[in-house]
Amino acid sequence: MEVQQVLHMNWGNGETSYASNSNLQKLVITKAKSMVIGSISDLYTTNFPRCLRIADLGCSSGPNTLLVISEIIEAIVETCHQLKRTTPEFQVFLNDLPSNDFNNIFKTLPAFYKQLKKEKGEKFGLCSITGLPGSFYDRLFPSSSIDFHHSSYSVHWLSQVPITVESNKGNIYLARTSPPSVLKAYLEQFQNDFSLFLSLRFKEITPGGRMVITMLGRRSEDPFGKEGYFWELLSKSLNDLVSEGLIEEAQVDSFNLPFYMPSRKEVEDVVCVDGSFYLDQLDIFDVNWDGSDDDDNKGFMFDRFISGKKVAKYVRAVAEPLIACHFGDAIIDILFKRYIEYVSEHLSKEEGKYVNFVISLRGK
Ligand code: SAH
Repeated sequence: MEVQQVLHMNWGNGETSYASNSNLQKLVITKAKSMVIGSISDLYTTNFPRCLRIADLGCSSGPNTLLVISEIIEAIVETCHQLKRTTPEFQVFLNDLPSNDFNNIFKTLPAFYKQLKKEKGEKFGLCSITGLPGSFYDRLFPSSSIDFHHSSYSVHWLSQVPITVESNKGNIYLARTSPPSVLKAYLEQFQNDFSLFLSLRFKEITPGGRMVITMLGRRSEDPFGKEGYFWELLSKSLNDLVSEGLIEEAQVDSFNLPFYMPSRKEVEDVVCVDGSFYLDQLDIFDVNWDGSDDDDNKGFMFDRFISGKKVAKYVRAVAEPLIACHFGDAIIDILFKRYIEYVSEHLSKEEGKYVNFVISLRGK
């Protein structure tokens, strides 16, 4: 399977699309905002570039696509206002894999520009937004051309499924029953990919340029910690379909996700060995699997079935294309119905949390 052709979120605006099921990622963007704003404001007030060149890597196509860009523009305009300076021009590159629905983003741009002019006034200079299809595991930009790289919820996707010598029997991601050689293959794939990502971005950033990455991770060093349990429940659902004769056991055994959630130390080690960036800050925060935030939900009555459905929608919106490509479209509805049951059952016993890393880096 060629990951880069199959890895994309569910298209369109339908009920199962990423555009309709990306509130979880929106919450994560909101929680990472202060670090993003801090980093870009610092960059801006150090150099005062006349044009700020920003890239968003893994931008997808939906309500979140222009969210970080708006937040950045807002913050820089505010800074300029306080310092009584004219605002810089903004050149923004939205990157994702070529299979991403860029046309859908382009259609929203006229309204976005109009809103900017309305909110920021006639004095606001140019904001030019361009789409850039390609993998962020390849060079995307000319040398020293980007001031600020940003990426949210994308870098935990690997460039390919790790090549394993033994089968990851009955699992689709790392689980307690995965052989050590599978764990080694996953870790090495992450190390190679993340190191490549850092070295490529370093070539592209201007001197003193910054990068903020938000991605899924693990709190513990244990590679089989409960952080990956949402995938284990999907493996369990697939194994049920094997028992019911709907799919072959060998199909499950030969399917692994091109995905990895590193520990803090694993991230730090790659940054250190690669050596292109200083790690300014690494913050860790949790969000609930169902996209709710404990800070906002005090006194909220929890319904495990409603939550289970939400969790399944989020997971389906990101994983359906990969699963459908391997197992066929016909099983998708049955699979996710089963998944809702397992997730709801799990949530009646314990909480489900995604662990998120926000990593702020500065080019050396
Ligand atoms: N940043 C958005 C989207 C996150 S979904 C948000 O926070 O809502 C992850 C996105 O990363 C998907 O659109 C997927 O296509 C993209 N992606 C995954 N691997 C990629 C790669 N190698 N190069 C570019 N984009 C990639």
